[in-house]
Amino acid sequence: MALKKIVEVTGLTKDFNGARAVDGISFEMFEGEMLGLIGPNGAGKSTTLQMLLDLTTPTAGEIRIFGVPLKENREYILGLANFSSSYISLPYSLTVWENLMVFARLYGVKKPKEKILKLLEAFEIADLKDVPTRRLSSGQITRVCLCKSLLNDPKVLFLDEPTASLDPDMADKTRRLLKGFKEDNGTSILYTSHNMREMEELCDRVIFMDRGRVIASGRPEEIKERFHGADLEEVFLKVARKR
Ligand code: ADP
Repeated sequence: MALKKIVEVTGLTKDFNGARAVDGISFEMFEGEMLGLIGPNGAGKSTTLQMLLDLTTPTAGEIRIFGVPLKENREYILGLANFSSSYISLPYSLTVWENLMVFARLYGVKKPKEKILKLLEAFEIADLKDVPTRRLSSGQITRVCLCKSLLNDPKVLFLDEPTASLDPDMADKTRRLLKGFKEDNGTSILYTSHNMREMEELCDRVIFMDRGRVIASGRPEEIKERFHGADLEEVFLKVARKR
């Protein structure tokens, strides 16, 4: 049986003041897939994610999610999607619990208290629930954002460097939690990280971007074979140093 396409991107382009940040990329993400987006700084990964979340308007190209165009179906699609990024700034005076309650209401979560508590426990921050967000460390804020990103049991999830500020133990636990969540819910996850070992371990397929273009995509083994690298890290260094 053919896999269901959850995200379809065609000819996606973004110019900022005449400079092309994303240059006509096309790719697909299938149901239940963990798809990694990798590439050097400035490759266009964050801009791509922002367009997928409709936070930035594309200069050209089309994004279809759940089979329909994002542009005309924003509310429907974004209600079934979620994201986490280190750029999210949560209202600092609200406690962790208050912040998550606001999002739970926005997403219309049923039994929000139970859901929030379950997520806080999964990310081991239940003891911080009454702490104002401004007192949290960056790793703790990341974990609150990850709780937020799972509140509505999203069918599609966009994660921008979700483990970047986590210690190795918490990063490992987070990878396991996300893997488990994906398996239990059939969620498609688009994931960016500069940790190549993590990408190799987690992702079913990766998309390698450089200078706004997709230069390779496939299973990690296929990419390694194609670029004659022992691991994704070696492939990354080869590509980045040839620039
Ligand atoms: P990555 O996430 O892969 O590091 P980005 O998508 O952040 O790459 O950036 C791609 C290119 O677009 C870079 O050259 C960056 O300077 C440029 N860029 C990103 N956002 C903006 C913006 N808001 N205004 C102008 N240029 C931008």
